[in-house]
Amino acid sequence: MKKHNFSAGPCILPPEVLLKASQAVVDFDNSGLSLIEISHRSKPFVDVMEKARALALELLGLEGKGYKALFLQGGASTQFLAVAYNLLENKAGYLNTGTWSNKALQEAKLFGDVQEVASSKDANFNYIPKGFEISSDLDYFHCTSNNTIFGTQLKSFPKCDIPMVCDMSSDIFSRELDFYRFDLIYAGAQKNMGPAGTTLVVVKEDILGKVSRQIPSMMDYKKHIGSGSMFNTPPVFPVYVSMLTLEWLKNLGGIKAIEEINNKKASLIYSEIDLNPLFKGFASKADRSTMNATFTLENDNLKETFETMLKEAGINGLNGHRSVGGYRASMYNALSLDSVKVLVEVMSELESKA
Ligand SMILES: *Cc1c(COP(=O)(O)O)cnc(C)c1O
Repeated sequence: MKKHNFSAGPCILPPEVLLKASQAVVDFDNSGLSLIEISHRSKPFVDVMEKARALALELLGLEGKGYKALFLQGGASTQFLAVAYNLLENKAGYLNTGTWSNKALQEAKLFGDVQEVASSKDANFNYIPKGFEISSDLDYFHCTSNNTIFGTQLKSFPKCDIPMVCDMSSDIFSRELDFYRFDLIYAGAQKNMGPAGTTLVVVKEDILGKVSRQIPSMMDYKKHIGSGSMFNTPPVFPVYVSMLTLEWLKNLGGIKAIEEINNKKASLIYSEIDLNPLFKGFASKADRSTMNATFTLENDNLKETFETMLKEAGINGLNGHRSVGGYRASMYNALSLDSVKVLVEVMSELESKA
């Protein structure tokens, strides 16, 4: 039986994408060769890379607006330093909304002054700080759109007249935003796009080339742009699978269509969390993530029963991160509404048993 996969990352991908990707590993487009044994400079792979880059911009509505899309290696964690390498001359501002944004902030400190613009650490990051000011003398402002671990999500973005950089690893392509407000977006593939091993970077070209330091080639966005995201051997398989997922999303109707489904999934689980007295939500209601729902059991004595029921229902990956505890239902684009229905049934069945 296929499991209901609520894993936080790496995580669920569309079944048709997995099937096509597995076939390409054996025989890529009836070429008699595997996708992973051909030259990355060959036309078939260059076409894959170009298509993936174009689809990313198209889905975000950023075509022809001065942006370039790159598929790089090193995960979102490498972008924590690449961003600072390329953009931090004197001082940058960071919004601290959890583990990942704090890591990004710490890396940036290696390159210049960093101001923590606001933080929700005082409440174990269960909310998004609001009403803070972003000084216009900063080189850039950095935020994390969705806090994968704590289950909070920025519903609106601050007014900002300096370049805005956003780590969208866990909610890219999940909801409509005015992406043009961002000057640099990055996202590790393994949350909503593909296998681990590549990171999407979407950057507005005119913010680059303004720092005085020398940038090593592999860290230099301009170099990667100049070489068509092929400065060195790209991670061919993760890029291919990401391309397939983006194609899948486009055929589905794009971000607008998936957002409707994502909202349905989120309201289903959150109404169960709110109505079922056995459970308690972690994130503050106004800031709840549509991607990662965090919650705990009110009574730990029910833990074993609940977890046995989850297992019997074929539910995988529901354990919360150790810094929150309890449970986390990650509901990325490829997770069906039916999987959420199964989880909600188990939760309400627990209530009838207790
Ligand atoms: C998972 C995650 C990361 C880390 O990504 P890696 O690709 O493992 O470096 C960074 N930011 C956010 C928001 C994440 O969810």
